[in-house]
Amino acid sequence: MTDGRALARTYLEQQRLLGGDSVILPDGPTPGWRPGSATPSAQSPPRTSGTSPLTPGASAGNPQARAERATSELPPPGISFDPPSGDLFTSDPLQQAGSLEAIAAQVRGCTKCRLCDGRRNAVPGEGPEDARLVVVGEGPGRVEDETGRPFVGPAGELLTKILAAIELPRERVFICNVVKCRPPENRLPQYDEIAACAPYLFRQIELLKPKVVLAMGGTAAQTLLNTKQSVGGLRNQVHRFRGVPVIVTYHPAALLRNPNWKKPTWDDVRIARRLLD
Ligand code: URA
Ligand code: SF4
Repeated sequence: MTDGRALARTYLEQQRLLGGDSVILPDGPTPGWRPGSATPSAQSPPRTSGTSPLTPGASAGNPQARAERATSELPPPGISFDPPSGDLFTSDPLQQAGSLEAIAAQVRGCTKCRLCDGRRNAVPGEGPEDARLVVVGEGPGRVEDETGRPFVGPAGELLTKILAAIELPRERVFICNVVKCRPPENRLPQYDEIAACAPYLFRQIELLKPKVVLAMGGTAAQTLLNTKQSVGGLRNQVHRFRGVPVIVTYHPAALLRNPNWKKPTWDDVRIARRLLD
């Protein structure tokens, strides 16, 4: 198989995975591959987010025009949340932590909430100090608790594929959660647990200074934006956390349960990708 065909195959597999259609084609013709020859669009769910106005001259059926539209428009601004950050003279050890590793060390020894009782490993998060994208989930699951690493179970496998689909190897992304210890039976983290743990996340974002934060699921979105609104109500806007753009989308574990959310999620991660460029 030629390189072009292999690329096209990978691309179509990603589109199928994310429930997308065939509009975002790689630049230029692919040898041996005809647009439409093996597209999965017949099986794709209907567009649910067709709210963006048509670019003048764009016809709905014209893949190139639709691709252009998809790369030129950003959703409107949403919530801005600016929690105060610490100052240089504070005695708070977290504010004095000057590296991600220093934060991780504090997390591993943390007993600020009841979730420390049941953990095997705290899961501070992982990724490079110069990551431009930060992905925030809810809290560690079983495999994460066993390994001390974020998003390595089934939801993590899907997240890795989603990131690959926007040409971001997961090694280039900082991946973490709102609570750093696993809630029993994967229940939702409680309000006081989130309040105890969120300062670690906030400090991680403060040190990383990413270009974009992708909040996956309600817990991440509501914590970063200080709101009770649902994911559905927060999607399709560019929110801000201390000035950093925040895109809200569904949690990969929710996608595994509800494939109808794949297409909107694909739309959301493409918006995040555009903000990175
Ligand atoms: N779900 C999450 O929210 N985070 C993980 O790390 C794994 C699953
Ligand atoms: Fe500390 Fe967060 Fe673990 Fe609670 S969940 S013990 S606040 S690290």
